[in-house]
Amino acid sequence: MLALKPARLQWSDDGALASLDYGDIYFQRGQGLEESRYVFMERNELPARFRAIENESFHIAELGFGSGLNFLLTAQLFAQAAPPSARLVYAAIEKHPVRREDLERIYSHFVLPDTDKLLAQYPPLMEGFHHLHFYGGRIRLMLLLGDVAEILPEVRGAFDAWYLDGFSPAKNPAMWQEKLFPLMAERTRPGGTVATFSAAGHVRRGLESAGYTVEKAKGYGVKRDMTIARWTGSKPSPAAKKTIAVLGAGLAGCAAAYALRRRGHNVVLIDRSGIAAETSGNPIGILYPKLTVDPSPLGQFHSHAFCFARQLVEKLKLPSWRNCGVIRLDLDADDAGRTRALLAQNEFPPEFAAAAAYAGHSGMEQAMAGMLSPPEFCAALANDAQTLFGASVTGLRQTPKGWEVLGGGHIIASADTVIVAQGLGSRDFLQTEWLPLQSLRGQVTYLKPTVESRKLDKIVCHDGYITPAVDGLHYIGATFQKENPGAVETRAEDDAENLEKLNRHLPQLSLSAAQVAGSRAGYRATTPDKLPTVGPAPDYDAFRKNFAPLREGKKAATEAPAYIEGLYISAGFGAHGLSGAPLAGEMIAAMVSGEPLPVPHSLAEHLLPERFIFRGLKRKKI
Ligand SMILES: Cc1cc2nc3c(=O)[nH]c(=O)nc-3n(C[C@H](O)[C@H](O)[C@H](O)COP(=O)(O)OP(=O)(O)OC[C@H]3O[C@@H](n4cnc5c(N)ncnc54)[C@H](O)[C@@H]3O)c2cc1C
Repeated sequence: MLALKPARLQWSDDGALASLDYGDIYFQRGQGLEESRYVFMERNELPARFRAIENESFHIAELGFGSGLNFLLTAQLFAQAAPPSARLVYAAIEKHPVRREDLERIYSHFVLPDTDKLLAQYPPLMEGFHHLHFYGGRIRLMLLLGDVAEILPEVRGAFDAWYLDGFSPAKNPAMWQEKLFPLMAERTRPGGTVATFSAAGHVRRGLESAGYTVEKAKGYGVKRDMTIARWTGSKPSPAAKKTIAVLGAGLAGCAAAYALRRRGHNVVLIDRSGIAAETSGNPIGILYPKLTVDPSPLGQFHSHAFCFARQLVEKLKLPSWRNCGVIRLDLDADDAGRTRALLAQNEFPPEFAAAAAYAGHSGMEQAMAGMLSPPEFCAALANDAQTLFGASVTGLRQTPKGWEVLGGGHIIASADTVIVAQGLGSRDFLQTEWLPLQSLRGQVTYLKPTVESRKLDKIVCHDGYITPAVDGLHYIGATFQKENPGAVETRAEDDAENLEKLNRHLPQLSLSAAQVAGSRAGYRATTPDKLPTVGPAPDYDAFRKNFAPLREGKKAATEAPAYIEGLYISAGFGAHGLSGAPLAGEMIAAMVSGEPLPVPHSLAEHLLPERFIFRGLKRKKI
């Protein structure tokens, strides 16, 4: 996720706000709001369409988020007109986002709703998909930062209305290229509409040749014309609300339950113990993004996931959340070179990652990072899900009506859809036993502070980590051992290992075995490529058969994947469940509900469980 060039703005004497990058105006004094309502909301017939929404979500795509006026007004209209069970997904693409301080200045010129909520959630200005939530999650703003030509092909979803609101085609020809219109058409729901202030001939022709029915309409104010367009067909009937069994009440299961409940599904959360009883049960965990020097699916996933999880943690107002920041120390010249390259190549906003020094080491500070209690997070996420605890799941049976969840030979739950989020136990079923999840044991040690260590106010990472004292204890860790899951008794030698690493790098904290106040062990589920496995469960045998030619280095006759209807997997978060699980839950909920995917399509593909079947075939291992 690279940093983006923010918009360069200029206020003119007559109160118009202009872009120095495009030599065009955002709006004229006193006109922005009315023009936005007229061109985009009325001409897309939104007041009537919002009133008619049933129990479903309405999707709007906007090209050119600008100052967010269109979004704020649309959200206000939606909140007033749509029934309480309706939801709005608003995906806005912006290449040069306005900086937060400029937004504050712009908003001071208008009476606008929800500007405080938008500003409070405004993301670091980095390329990628960012998420902001309004009205208790009923309205989701996906702020897609980057060039339309790169971002739109990455958007998976179908939209009911489009706002084409970039700078005018004459000033911003790159946005209005011919290839834009077929990309929009592929992402438009039957009955979907388009509105734009532009009456340019090539815009009308582009929409027409992509298959829209196009009309001229009276423009706003002194403008003679604008363009509206419609996609044929009528709105599909809303997808029914589902009953969904989520298996596993750790971070992955609780996050999936939360995202599904926000979309109105009935959720039953099933666990053999209870909330956060296993790997997710450490008293304190660190929420930080794992970054990679070169662009990679791993770095892209962790940046997106961290930003998403952080928003969620802030929104849930978790009492344990402490935004204390993380300092990662360079332990040798190689580390220092990597940090320099990471910062130079990515140009992150300083609050996301910046050069720093601590205790005689160079390093990098991640000021948005912090720590929280995973069990508290899980409990807040699972708050309104129905629960079935103390129930060990031993099998899954598909029936003509959906799924039966089996435990000890009995049906313990019936559901339309099942989400498997059981950590290492996710491969306990016939349908998922092929998943290449590997077990990594880990132990975290709790220490009473010393006079010196009490001053620590940031998390410091070396080849382990130490947190500032929380309720009188530091948390240090963690060990990593390839070991099959088994007993979770803690080991004195693991505490000693955690202490030895700490004292090698931070002896000035004077922490010793005398300070050990406790420890906790667990088994992380990891995957061979260190990315979690998130998405529909593939039919293993059908995949192996259909894609068998891959073994001979040939193309398969079909590209069509064969999934097991109504079965999804969210597992394999390794050492990063706090950041990874919330976004994975959101992805699964969007897939189940037919909503736009919350991540770039190419990233979602890297997380699909079937990637391991393809790799196995190509390497002739299966
Ligand atoms: C020592 C240590 C330190 C860590 N520190 C951090 C950190 O600082 N930051 C961070 O982001 N991550 C950290 N992690 C990783 C993080 O804890 C995991 O990524 C996360 O907990 C995984 O969540 P999960 O929901 O996938 O799995 P789990 O938390 O293991 O949840 C799976 C659930 O499924 C249930 N289950 C399993 N099988 C069955 C069955 N057959 N029937 C019914 N229920 C079943 C279990 O009871 C369990 O509750 C750490 C891990 C360890 C071990």
